[in-house]
Amino acid sequence: MLSKIIKQASIDHFAKWFERAEQIVIVSHVSPDGDAVGSSLGLAHFFASQDKQVRVIVPNAFPDFLKWMPGSKDILQYDRHKKLADRLIAEADIICCLDFNALSRIDAMGTAVQASPARKILIDHHLNPEDFCKIIISHPEISSTSELVFRLICRMGYFDDISKEGAECIYTGMMTDTGGFTYNSNDREIYFIIGELLSKGIDKDAIYRKVYNTYSESRLRLMGYVLSQMKVYSACNAAMISLTKKEQSNFHYIRGDSEGFVNIPLSIKNVVLSCFLREDTEKPMIKVSLRSVGSFPCNKLAAEFFNGGGHLNASGGEFYGTMEEARQRFEQALESYKPLLTASKA
Ligand code: 5GP
Ligand code: MN
Repeated sequence: MLSKIIKQASIDHFAKWFERAEQIVIVSHVSPDGDAVGSSLGLAHFFASQDKQVRVIVPNAFPDFLKWMPGSKDILQYDRHKKLADRLIAEADIICCLDFNALSRIDAMGTAVQASPARKILIDHHLNPEDFCKIIISHPEISSTSELVFRLICRMGYFDDISKEGAECIYTGMMTDTGGFTYNSNDREIYFIIGELLSKGIDKDAIYRKVYNTYSESRLRLMGYVLSQMKVYSACNAAMISLTKKEQSNFHYIRGDSEGFVNIPLSIKNVVLSCFLREDTEKPMIKVSLRSVGSFPCNKLAAEFFNGGGHLNASGGEFYGTMEEARQRFEQALESYKPLLTASKA
């Protein structure tokens, strides 16, 4: 049995909206990851099973290694189909906002979502959600939005209507937001849920391979290069990797090629903080990704030094300046957090 994490009032409230709704739009954050796509498609499969018209809309492209997911071909990309997306958002009865906590996280789509008269529900696990939805299901203690989607569907009484395809999407989100159940994954109910998803016929081992073992040759070579340039700050239990635009073009970089790189330095003994600086190809900025193990709050560092935020162990931000300046900024942050970093144990 699962604990009743989601408030009954929220379930009842949503069930009421749901009964009457015909058209539902699901939106998720910019640069959608496995949990953004997984939770959105998982919920979409369920809505479709109840004969609702449903459309998933994301601000921009998502990585190729998620394109096997059932229903992913029907995902609408806002930056490519703005007109159609604006109409769907404006005409929706319900808009479900998944895996983000602030309208700024959906970029240009935020204006359309805000302006829509649709009823809005937030289902998310990031800290401090902004107040842009009538129903807020926000649980930072839960490791993925996909898990929350599973819990919501079950609490509404529809476990039996979860299809194998829906279960595959939910499992993918749970798996990717925990690094294949290697962090944020000690809650035993996660494994109860996996048992339930397996009962739908999913092949979890195949899903793992489809997500993690589909590297292109250039991605693997890029990884080798990035790691060969890695800087380790032994005195601070930290490491940093980086990728300039020039290096990206040398390795025929395509979006998603560096997905997950930031986790690799954490496999070094005693390293509790890893930073990945990537020069953006569209905006004049450096995208900062941070990961930590144990109690070190990389979201605090992201907020203080990179105008960002996120979770305790996975956060990010942006830096406007050169790669060298971003590096220096990170080194300043290391100095400032040195006492905490040296006290942190993996
Ligand atoms: P990633 O490193 O995978 O891009 O991001 C990890 C997590 O950090 C995201 O799930 C999100 O919570 C947070 N994050 C990433 N970039 C930003 C940012 O620019 N601003 C804020 N507030 N959070 C971010
Ligand atoms: Mn997530």
